[in-house]
Amino acid sequence: MTWRRLRGAGNPLRVLVLLALLLLADWAYARVHAALPLAGALDESAHLCFAALLLLALRQPLGGRVGRAALVASVAIDIDHVPGELGAGWLTVGTPRPYTHSLATLLLVTLAAIAWRRRRLELIGALLGLTAHFWRDLGETGSGVALLWPLSSHSDSVPHSAFLASVASVAVVALWRIADRSPARRRTTARSSGVD
Ligand SMILES: [Zn+2]
Repeated sequence: MTWRRLRGAGNPLRVLVLLALLLLADWAYARVHAALPLAGALDESAHLCFAALLLLALRQPLGGRVGRAALVASVAIDIDHVPGELGAGWLTVGTPRPYTHSLATLLLVTLAAIAWRRRRLELIGALLGLTAHFWRDLGETGSGVALLWPLSSHSDSVPHSAFLASVASVAVVALWRIADRSPARRRTTARSSGVD
């Protein structure tokens, strides 16, 4: 199996590799009390793999306009942790994560997508990537997201098992989408509908 084939559209192995990497990174991030560079790499790898799985489930090519923006946004949002790591806590006073980890960011990106037609696909991709990111952060054990900031600083969270269940569901949908597009399936569908 070459890397080229692995990257190819509609390859179920790609879904399984992404799923394995996501689960491994997610597990290691929660259990290995690593220093920041390694912990950050594990955390962002899990975010990236989850966004990629979501894109495949939605039949969005990873290299397309929506796909690229989603993948970038799924990790880039964590840049908002940098001021806090450097000792400047003005972006996260009273909340478990910086204020930009909230529905307000999703609302702003949605409004930008409505207003900016030329970049609508990229902004929709960013919306997907951010949503995937916030969902995983919500499922991080012992942490949370102040989703309703600035209306409320309450830390919202979901059980980690809910996040894992969503990962399994997204992977199943991605595999089903691929099976639905496979040449054998298309031939069967064409025969049953009388098309040669
Ligand atoms: Zn985050």
